[in-house]
Amino acid sequence: MLEFKCHVCGSESAKEEFINEILDVEGRRVLVEHIPALVCTRCSEAAISIETTERIRQLVHGAGTPVRTVPLEVFELA
Ligand SMILES: [Zn+2]
Repeated sequence: MLEFKCHVCGSESAKEEFINEILDVEGRRVLVEHIPALVCTRCSEAAISIETTERIRQLVHGAGTPVRTVPLEVFELA
């Protein structure tokens, strides 16, 4: 098990999962799927490693090509 300490609840128990994140990239919304993360078993907060964060940053800033485009429904709590 990788060393983990949740920055939200302090739990040291996490499971490895793949997550999806929507990011803002220069005013665009992009969806990144299949991100390896450690997800806190207590509060579900996901922690992404610095290496993975950097790979995502490069990917969405031009190093990668989107695999597909999906429509995005936007809701707002007024
Ligand atoms: Zn937590």
